[in-house]
Amino acid sequence: MALEDAKTQVDQAFTRADPRGLSFENAFGGATSFLRRRYTKDLTGVDVAVTGIPFDQAVTHRPGTRFGPRAIREASSLQAFDAPYGWGYDPLSLLNVADYGDMPFDYANIRDVPARITAHIGAIMDAGAAPITLGGDHFITLPILRAMAERHGPVALIQFDAHSDTWVDDDPDRIDHGTFLYKAIRQGLVDPAACVSVGIRTDNPDTLGVTILDAPSVHQDGVQATLERIRAVVGDRPTYVTFDIDALDPAFAPGTGTPVWGGLASWQAAALLRGLAGINMIGGDVVEVSPPYDTTGATAIAGSHVAFELIALYGWNRRG
Ligand code: MN
Ligand code: MN
Repeated sequence: MALEDAKTQVDQAFTRADPRGLSFENAFGGATSFLRRRYTKDLTGVDVAVTGIPFDQAVTHRPGTRFGPRAIREASSLQAFDAPYGWGYDPLSLLNVADYGDMPFDYANIRDVPARITAHIGAIMDAGAAPITLGGDHFITLPILRAMAERHGPVALIQFDAHSDTWVDDDPDRIDHGTFLYKAIRQGLVDPAACVSVGIRTDNPDTLGVTILDAPSVHQDGVQATLERIRAVVGDRPTYVTFDIDALDPAFAPGTGTPVWGGLASWQAAALLRGLAGINMIGGDVVEVSPPYDTTGATAIAGSHVAFELIALYGWNRRG
């Protein structure tokens, strides 16, 4: 069936009739939407809207994540054939997943970007869809969380990251990927008692009340113990999941702005995301994929897998 379909399926980003189902279009050609989903700005009936925010002007070191959404979409074309391994169901057949395209913005008017992101994500949520965002640097998660909090109140947060992103930043005009969580906490967008950061391996003595499950603890105590701790923090509260690709070790994700050794292996990340099945997830993102530093494409591949896992995680509670 798959091989037969490859003779006719092409450019499913704009030719597919059924928004649900796997795709057998040749991986190496055609228009590259995320997982060959339909590109649309009409979210009627859409369960999950994948969207790119190619903003990278908040970085402390190497830029390039503005190219992230495009690279992740291209990498995803190899994954559209199969349901993600190990879940036991196919989220692409269960859910109507659309590629909502990228957020437009004036690259030279950075001050305008945060409110634009909040409005962009808010519009997706108000249409009844869950946003899965492809970054972009980690700053974008702050205005995304504002859209979440406006509709849910202070939310629970699971952050995968090498960095806490809670460095002190009391200047409301600063736009910095290293302080998104500091500001989200100070602005009441998240409840720090329901926030957990996984994979951390940079020092920041003031945790602001966030539970830190650093990378050594994951390595030493294992995936199951880590999962139990994450679940104990977020419970069944509305939970946003943000995945900074530098949570992975540079061996698995070299193409990122601020790589740190000693990180998670991709199998650990996969096991952690799958092990979270059942949480009350309201949206998620994968950020900090920087294609100019991604010489093998491994980082974009990892980013694509993370985004697909986030969709599977969202769909889990919605199985019939
Ligand atoms: Mn980071
Ligand atoms: Mn980060």
